[in-house]
Amino acid sequence: MEEQHSGNRIEQKTLKVTVYCGAATGKDPKYADWADRLGKWIADSRGELVFGAGGVGLMGIVAKSVLKHGGSAHGIIPQALAERERPYEGLTTVEVVHDMDERKRRMMELGDVYIAFPGGPGTVEEITEAFSWARIGLTSKPCVFFNLDGYWDPIRTMYQRMVDNGFLNQGSFDKLLFANSFDEIIPWARQYVPPTVRTYTRTQ
Ligand code: AMP
Repeated sequence: MEEQHSGNRIEQKTLKVTVYCGAATGKDPKYADWADRLGKWIADSRGELVFGAGGVGLMGIVAKSVLKHGGSAHGIIPQALAERERPYEGLTTVEVVHDMDERKRRMMELGDVYIAFPGGPGTVEEITEAFSWARIGLTSKPCVFFNLDGYWDPIRTMYQRMVDNGFLNQGSFDKLLFANSFDEIIPWARQYVPPTVRTYTRTQ
């Protein structure tokens, strides 16, 4: 079955899943365990992984798992990083780009859905950029925080604080999914409608 994008709706097609996650594995083995499950879920969903190409940390575990379970993995790596460290071996495709900005843009262009798995500042930066771009209409794809054992609760609280203080509208906040299981992601992504493009109040 071929997948097609119709407007903002994800129809039957190869779901391209952009994953942002740690370049480290984290202290608790549960992170590696769930990264492995994420890779299996992507492959079982006939999906394709889009990611930063690194063979390190949770990134490497997700890629390995996708490939092990018969899925495909598309890595996007900046020239400088490709020279310093090799991309994960055996990736279906590797795209070498000029810099980190181009990589983030390509990861957003290619993915049908963006998933933030536990990670560090790089992960936070990537998913935050995706969410902020959605608010100004630069992307129409949904953002998911995979909230393993409440990992992303502090960010959810921070966004709620922004809403309470008038720096984020409730409608945009409600467009984020804080997922507790893989099962809820695809049905939710299929009915996703992007947030209303933000408007501004001119400073008097
Ligand atoms: P962090 O969460 O700070 O560990 O950063 C991981 C995120 O930043 C990933 O989603 C990658 O897209 C990107 N990233 C950071 N370091 C690397 C690396 N060595 N190789 C590939 N991508 C990386």
